[in-house]
Formats: sequence, structure tokens, C-alpha cells
Amino acid sequence: MRFDTKLIHAAQPPDPLTGAVNVPVYLSSTFAQSAPNRHKGFVYGRSGNPTRAVLESALAAIEGGATGLAFSSGLGALATLLEHFPSGARIVAGEDLYGGTWRLFEHHRRQFGLTVDYVDARSTERIAAALDAGPAQMVYLESPTNPLLTLADIGAVARRAHRGDALVAVDNTFASPAFQRPLELGADVVLHSTTKYLGGHSDIIGGALIARTAPFGERLAWLQNAVGAVPSPFDCFLVLRGLHTLGVRMRAHAASALAVARALEGHRRVRRVYYPGLASHPQHALARRQMDGFGGMVSIELRDGGRGARRFLRGLSVFTLAESLGGVESLVDHPASMTHASVPRAEREAHGVTDGLVRLSCGIEDPADLVDDVLRAVRGI
Ligand SMILES: *Cc1c(COP(=O)(O)O)cnc(C)c1O
Repeated sequence: MRFDTKLIHAAQPPDPLTGAVNVPVYLSSTFAQSAPNRHKGFVYGRSGNPTRAVLESALAAIEGGATGLAFSSGLGALATLLEHFPSGARIVAGEDLYGGTWRLFEHHRRQFGLTVDYVDARSTERIAAALDAGPAQMVYLESPTNPLLTLADIGAVARRAHRGDALVAVDNTFASPAFQRPLELGADVVLHSTTKYLGGHSDIIGGALIARTAPFGERLAWLQNAVGAVPSPFDCFLVLRGLHTLGVRMRAHAASALAVARALEGHRRVRRVYYPGLASHPQHALARRQMDGFGGMVSIELRDGGRGARRFLRGLSVFTLAESLGGVESLVDHPASMTHASVPRAEREAHGVTDGLVRLSCGIEDPADLVDDVLRAVRGI
């Protein structure tokens, strides 16, 4: 099956009992047993649920992994992944990360003796140098990153990490499997905030881990049950419903994002436009090689700093000011004061998250309306 067909059919046969083309929402916390430990594969809702099982198999199929696991949030998935490592473990992580990911790493650093070395993941050499500096249990990447849309060369990093014992984890939330499949490039585990593109309609909070191999998948499944950050059956149903349209939505998101990025690039009030699909993006060639599309996220830096950003935000009417991304509706975020406020100013500014930075999640409205909206807003600064 090709990708768009998998989204609808992989692991999703009609319900054997009724023929329902969608998996029913099994709202049951427990399952009857005919004798102790004799059951139909489901025992207790934290350990497994039939609706969740379909979602998990579908996630594994579309990311090309052996095991898919669903969680109650992206950070729930990350917290569970971190439970895999012994205290005192060392992680080499990209330095441009989702703020909540950074916050959880820092918590583990203070609380449990985790060592996290943050490096500029645009450079495989810097990651290699960090791996040479001492044993590491994991390389943790976002690609493209939030909010600066920089890339890591996932295949090259995986080849280098696998010379030692380090696992390679990739947060694939921004690209979605429609545009990038890190496990096929050599990563060991993919993380998602299904809250974003996979759910796609801004109506649930959810997360996922997809493991390349079955043994690592079993270990993570054990941790999923032990930690218990599992999603409700209804939320699983909504993510499945979102998956069905992921391909068409991602193509629409990407077309809008490219139109918005092109309209703003070179505008006199805009210092920089960050979008991997622009030929001017410093890693455009890597994006073309590693991705099947460039995503729906565009960040811009306004010349007039925080003042320019505030005026730009006030001037928008189609884009809604809100945290989150990846839904059908266009959203705009001011990272410095919203999603990345937990990162100290010096740290975030060193990476380019300045007061003038604005992050656009381009939805699937008519692209011309999105372009009109951002152009009206920059003119009004
Ligand atoms: C939102 C997000 C997360 C966290 O996911 P939640 O579902 O909010 O817990 C992690 N990584 C990225 C890239 C995100 O955008």
C-alpha cells in the first residue's frame, strides 16, 4: 500500500462483529475473563483497549515501525521514554527544542542526575564530537525544530550514533509521517504530539511513540503500562479520524505555508523568514533529500522586535493567537512570551528565539486569505 492508502486502511479492517468501517469506541475499563487469565486479548484499559490497539497498529504502519504506542500527551510519551534510561544517563540533544521538552529534560537533570548536552544539531560533526566526549544513551532530535525550523541530518546522525550504543529518538511532530519517516532514515524511535498534525483538528491532547524494533517496542509497551499516561478510547478514535485525512491536509498546509513564506520573504518589515521549502533556507537541500514536503509551519522575525511582533499579532484576523499548531485552522504564536517562555531569555535569544519572532501554523483555509491576512498585518506595523 502507498502512504495515503495506508492512512485509511493499514491495520483498520472493518469491524469483524458488525462490519462498521470505523473501529468502535470501546468505552470499557475492564474486560471479562472466562477463567483467570483466559481472555480475548484485553484485560484492563490501562494495559490495552481495542480502539487504542487499532490506533497503535496504524501509527506503526504509517511510520514504518514494529510497535506503535499511544499516550495521553506528547510530553506523556516523552516522560515514558525517559523512564527507559537508568539514573545518571547521558543524552545528547539538539539545542532548539520544544519548550516543554527542554523543561522536562531540565527537571530530570536536577531531580535524577540525567546529563543533557545540548548541541547545534544542524551540524552532524558537533553531535559526533559530543558522542566522542563520553558514552551517551540517546541522541534526541527535533527536525524540523520548533520554532526555528532547522534540520538535523537524521540518517547521518543515526549512522554515527550507532557506532556506539546511543539510541536515536526523533520528535517528528512538525513534519508528520506524511513528509518524513525517521525510522526509515535509521532512527530507533519516533515521538509525536498527536495533538498537532496527526489529530489535526485542535480537539484532543495526545502523544505517540513508534519503535523501529519489536524488542524496544516491548520495553516501551511495558513502560506505557507501568507509567500509565494512556489516552482515552474516544481520543484514540479522534486521532484515527485525523489520520485518514493526514495526506490531503499536509499537502494543503504545505501549499499555504509556501505561499505565506514567499509573500513575506524580502518584505521590508521582515528581517527573516524561516521555512525549509524556501530556496534561501540554509538547509533547503537537506530538506529536499530527507523530506517529501516542507510542512505547514513558518516563522518570521520582524525588524521592529517585540513592538513589531505585537503590532503584527494585532493586525491578523484569520490567524488566531493561540498556542499549539497543526490544526485545520491557522494559528499564530509568539514563542518568546508563550510556548518558549520557560526557556531563560539569554538561552533562547542565543538560539534565535527573539522578541521579534512570530510562529505561524498555516491552516487549510484558502491560501489567498492567509497571504492577504499576513500582508495586511505587516503593512499595519
Ligand atoms: C506540542 C509539542 C510537544 C508536546 O506535546 P503535548 O501533546 O503538548 O504534550 C512536543 N514536541 C513538539 C514539537 C510539539 O510541538
